[in-house]
Amino acid sequence: MSKVLIVGAGGVGQVVAHKCAQLPEVFSEITLASRTEEKCRRIAAQIARPIHTAQVDADDVPRMIALIERVQPKVVINVALPYQDLHIMDACLATGVDYLDTANYEPLDEAKFEYKWQWAYHERFRERGIMALLGSGFDPGVTNVYTAWLHKHEFDEIDTIDIIDANAGSHGQPFATNFNPEINIREITQRGRYWENGAWQGTDPLSVHRKFDFPEGIGPMEIYLLYHEELESIIKHFPKVKRARFWMTFSENYLTHLRVLGNVGMTRIDPVRFQGQDIVPIQFLKALLPDPASLGPLTKGRTCIGVLAHGRKDGKEKVAFIYNICDHEACYREVKSQAISYTTGVPAAVGAEMMLTGAWRGKGVFNMEQFDPDPFMKAIGPRGLPWTLKTLDAPME
Ligand code: NDP
Repeated sequence: MSKVLIVGAGGVGQVVAHKCAQLPEVFSEITLASRTEEKCRRIAAQIARPIHTAQVDADDVPRMIALIERVQPKVVINVALPYQDLHIMDACLATGVDYLDTANYEPLDEAKFEYKWQWAYHERFRERGIMALLGSGFDPGVTNVYTAWLHKHEFDEIDTIDIIDANAGSHGQPFATNFNPEINIREITQRGRYWENGAWQGTDPLSVHRKFDFPEGIGPMEIYLLYHEELESIIKHFPKVKRARFWMTFSENYLTHLRVLGNVGMTRIDPVRFQGQDIVPIQFLKALLPDPASLGPLTKGRTCIGVLAHGRKDGKEKVAFIYNICDHEACYREVKSQAISYTTGVPAAVGAEMMLTGAWRGKGVFNMEQFDPDPFMKAIGPRGLPWTLKTLDAPME
């Protein structure tokens, strides 16, 4: 029986609140806090079980500390934005409370995400006797656990890993992002990067692409190579992997909008002086685009996210694909969110469950693949994200 403090009442925070509320034997008391308390209250009103709400600016560390001291949680689930990661980790260190997030730290003024800032907290968390679990969403998150599980059960050696993320759904809007537009567009417009033979290889943004035939009737879709944060921790923890890449589907329409917005400067992250005021174009763009939470009732279709591995088992070559398929409308019926928020929020709640039940314990800062994948893989299906393993005939070129 443990109290939990969830920070961030966006699309993902809503799913985490619902999922924690479904498991009273693990999450005995829930507090949902965000910059705008009204959003927390709206979510609380959807949930049959009473949950507390609070207002906090998580970048204000003394206030964050005061909130943790008042709520006395066993774990803080950070589903605000990556900019808040270090501030919330500082507050957890000050109060001696465990920490979990779904996205690694990113400085506001530079579109660059790396684990180095959060890994640098390892010694301090260890000395304080507390645990941080980083990247407990789907990708990163479940994809790291899939990799660890394949490594443990299906392969003796893995040579290549391809993480593939498809949104085969549609919301009917001319242009909208499925999660926070600022974070999403910063990620996609970066240069691509993948790991091969001991070094990072760079590619121009969205320049490498190919078709991938998705299972269970989704069919062939164009996938684009991107840099994604789990590649950094996976190659650290599985150093024998020779090549690791990340792919995501985009429609032609989405890419055309993005190209035009980029060409006219609307995706810039540096301030521009306008009528006596500094405006950051990408933040202004976020204000114009649909709130991802509003896409819930509009989105139809499915997502498919998985890990394709190529290696050897018992001396024989093997290719395996492990994946989840999630239906947008089914998610909306259950928690009033589309599948992108759902596939992130469920693993955040299951990660916290692993920490609170003692299935995953450690002192310091950890990525998902550092723990035994079995208890997580056992829990994640019944909590809403079942998985399927398929053997394929040929690896991805
Ligand atoms: P939203 O923009 O919908 O929600 C973010 C929430 O955080 C908002 O309620 C916002 O409050 C709150 N917030 C922002 N700044 C602060 C602050 N300083 N203090 C307190 N609260 C704050 O984002 P999503 O729900 O779509 O995404 C949440 C996180 O999940 C992001 O970090 C994202 O990168 C991550 N993510 C991870 C994925 C994965 O698979 N690993 C996939 C998708 C997302 P307000 O509205 O009041 O400003």
